[in-house]
Amino acid sequence: MRYCCKVMKICVEKLKHVEYIERFDEFALPVGEDLGRSVIILKYCPWCGKKLPESKRQKWFEILNELGIDPTEDKLIPYPLKRSLWWEDLGTTMDMVKEDIKE
Ligand SMILES: [Zn+2]
Repeated sequence: MRYCCKVMKICVEKLKHVEYIERFDEFALPVGEDLGRSVIILKYCPWCGKKLPESKRQKWFEILNELGIDPTEDKLIPYPLKRSLWWEDLGTTMDMVKEDIKE
């Protein structure tokens, strides 16, 4: 995991003030403890100001929608879409998904 700065690294790994959501490549600020789990997605680092990665959330749901897979059923989600960095080589991921679905 590459961080924009040292403070972000400490906040994610040690202090847990910021959560890194690996599946969607998102940095999230947990909020509303009393009201159940909720997060605010950060677009920029609050400390160094650098732009954080674009969220892959929409893409992930789009792919599942195209495949006709219910995203709430974790066991139905093809394993290639559960890998970390699944978006980095999307062509390969989609080939793996097709293979996985065929079986
Ligand atoms: Zn930073």
